Amino acid sequence: MAIPDKNEPGSSLLQIQDLNVIYKTDEATVYAVNGISFELGRKETIGLVGETGAGKTTTALAIMRLLPEETGFIKGGEIRFQGEDLVKKSQPDMREIRGAKISMIFQDPMTSLNPIMPVGDQILESLEIHNSENLSKEDLNKRVDELLSLVGILPQRKKDFPHQFSGGMKQRIVIAIALACRPELLIADEPTTALDVTIQAQVLELMRELKEKLGTSMIMITHDLGVVAETCDKVAIMYAGRIVEAGSAEDVFEGEKHHPYTVGLFGSIPNLEEETDRLHPIDGLMPDPTDLPPGCPFHPRCKQCMDICREKMPEFYTSGEHRIACHLYTKGD
Ligand code: SF4
Repeated sequence: MAIPDKNEPGSSLLQIQDLNVIYKTDEATVYAVNGISFELGRKETIGLVGETGAGKTTTALAIMRLLPEETGFIKGGEIRFQGEDLVKKSQPDMREIRGAKISMIFQDPMTSLNPIMPVGDQILESLEIHNSENLSKEDLNKRVDELLSLVGILPQRKKDFPHQFSGGMKQRIVIAIALACRPELLIADEPTTALDVTIQAQVLELMRELKEKLGTSMIMITHDLGVVAETCDKVAIMYAGRIVEAGSAEDVFEGEKHHPYTVGLFGSIPNLEEETDRLHPIDGLMPDPTDLPPGCPFHPRCKQCMDICREKMPEFYTSGEHRIACHLYTKGD
C-alpha cells in the first residue's frame, strides 16, 4: 500500500472531533461549541460561516488554546494538529506552536499591533521568538524586508509606526507578522470586515496569493459569502455551536439539498459563478446559549419545522463529503 505524502495538498493537517467548549460564569454556563467535527487538509481553506454567536470565533480560540483562562473550557473532543491532540498540550507547548505553526489574524488590525513600536520591529520580534534556524540579526532583518515586500509594503517603511499606515496597510502588516514563521495553519477571523470594500478586495487577493505561494492551510471565519466563494475549498455552516451543513464549496453553493438555515442565511443559494452577497438576516434570534432548546436548535426559526424537530436532535444526512443535520433528509432513513 502506498504511504500518503504528508505534504501532498489535501493530506490531513487538522482534525477536529466532537469538540465541546463552554464558558462558565457564576450565573450561567454558555454552551458555545457543541460537538463539532471537521477536517482540513494541507493547502486547503475552510470557511466557517454563520451569524454572530454561532461559535465560529470560539472554535478558533479553542484551536489556538486562547480561551479566557478563568471562564473558557474545552469540555470534550479532540483537536488533532499534525496528528497531535492540542487539547492535551500544556500552555508552554502551545506557546511554541502559536506563531510558529498556527497563526491567527483578527478583525481589527489595531488589536494585534503595538501602537508604540515600529512595524519592522514587530515583525522582527515574531521572527526572534521562533528563530529555530538560529539566524543572525542581519539575516532576520533581511527576512523583515522580504516579508514587507511580500505583503506589498516598501521595506524602507519598517521604521514607521502603525498609525502612519492606512487600515488596509495595517492589516497587511498583521498578515506579515502572522506569516513570519511560515505557519502551516492560518486562522483569519473576519480579516477584512473592518476595511472598506476596495481595500477588502486587495487584502483578500493578497491572502489568496500568499496561500498559493506559501502553501498555508487556512480557516476563514466570515459573514461574507463573496469571501467564501472566492477563497474557500470547503465550507462549514455553524448555528448555535453546531455544524448544521458542511461540504465542498460546490456542495454548499451548488448542491441540490441544503439545511433550511443555509437557505435562509444565503437568501437563496447563490451560484459560485455569480456575484455573491452578504448573509441575509433571518427572522428570529439565535437561541440563548445558556438555555438551548430541545431537538433541532434551529426549530424555533425554521419554516419547515416538524413535530420531530422539537424533540430529537437530527443526525447528519451525508452524500459524499456533503453533510446536513436536518430531519427533512433523515426522517425516512
Ligand atoms: Fe428545520 Fe426540522 Fe430541519 Fe431543524 S431539523 S432545520 S427544524 S426541518
